[in-house]
Amino acid sequence: MQKYNITLHIKREDMSGGLELGGNKVRKLEFLIADAIGRECTDVVTIGGEQSNHVRATAAACCIHNLKPHLILRTKKVNLSDEYTGNILLDRMLGANLYTCTPGEYGRIGSHALVERLCVQLRKQKNTRELTKKPYAIPVGGSNGLGTWGYINAVQELSEQLQKEEISIDHLVFATGSGGTAAGITLGTALKYSGTSKCPNLHAVGVCDNEDYFYRTIANISEEMGFIPPSIKSKATEDYIREHLTVHQGKGIGYAMSTAEELDFITSFAMETGIVLDPVYTGKALYHFATNVLTSGEEFENSTILFWHTGGTLGMFDKADELLPTLQQVAPVKKLDVYGKGDPETIEI
Ligand SMILES: *Cc1c(COP(=O)(O)O)cnc(C)c1O
Repeated sequence: MQKYNITLHIKREDMSGGLELGGNKVRKLEFLIADAIGRECTDVVTIGGEQSNHVRATAAACCIHNLKPHLILRTKKVNLSDEYTGNILLDRMLGANLYTCTPGEYGRIGSHALVERLCVQLRKQKNTRELTKKPYAIPVGGSNGLGTWGYINAVQELSEQLQKEEISIDHLVFATGSGGTAAGITLGTALKYSGTSKCPNLHAVGVCDNEDYFYRTIANISEEMGFIPPSIKSKATEDYIREHLTVHQGKGIGYAMSTAEELDFITSFAMETGIVLDPVYTGKALYHFATNVLTSGEEFENSTILFWHTGGTLGMFDKADELLPTLQQVAPVKKLDVYGKGDPETIEI
């Protein structure tokens, strides 16, 4: 970043809510779990990838509020009973009921239908207090109209922090997956800054699908929140979103799959800043932004960028095997040679 004389600020959403709730999903769950409690639900059903941060945060939020979590994980693995890596370790320690489906089933049936089908089954069951279960369905990533209010709040929080620290930012960069974070940041920023000179340029880096998919998804979520494009009535919501946010491609070789370059970037970033990104969202987003977007235009020279670290660090454990060759280079391990035997792999003290 030195080459472009950029000042980089990072909002540490990875630290919000503690390890179990940490990351951006806690903001959506604040609203969703409140709704589940308000409707007197007993159980919560949600769905995500095998290492889903959303699913793990949902399980933790359920335990805090005495709701029973049911998590559907999309996985190629036949069986997850012996799995305990990263987020799955926490899902299981939190006592969640885990269910699996294949990527094919997920694609054919759709995440909403899978969640709904499980809800139908749960409604036929009674819980330990002999009450009929009342499940609450949360969509992928908690990205519906209600959950997204969490990010309207988040923009307000950020603007207060920036004002207090007297920081003015030119660009705001973040990862997008299920679209709720991007929708909330776009609408929140429009509410807060629209028409002022302080309005930062928004850059969402997609870690799956393609740019058009994200514009459409973000527009759909915005409409679910009741958004109507201001004044220019003839304009579609999607046009409004396209005007206020740029989506960049950052999926690399595929969702949750890492290249050696991405993992090297995450390791160097950790070494330079002490901040650990994640392989699925934040690491990819910042890597692709730095290598493809920053290099593409002069608009970034001498600018102030804020990167929204949306969490996910537990996902790093899933990449331990792929990381090992790099770790052996950047962090060699030597045995202390306390008896002065002079073995080549040791160090004398
Ligand atoms: C879910 C997630 C995102 C993306 O947020 P969406 O609202 O799903 O687009 C970004 N970073 C991390 C770490 C996440 O877990």
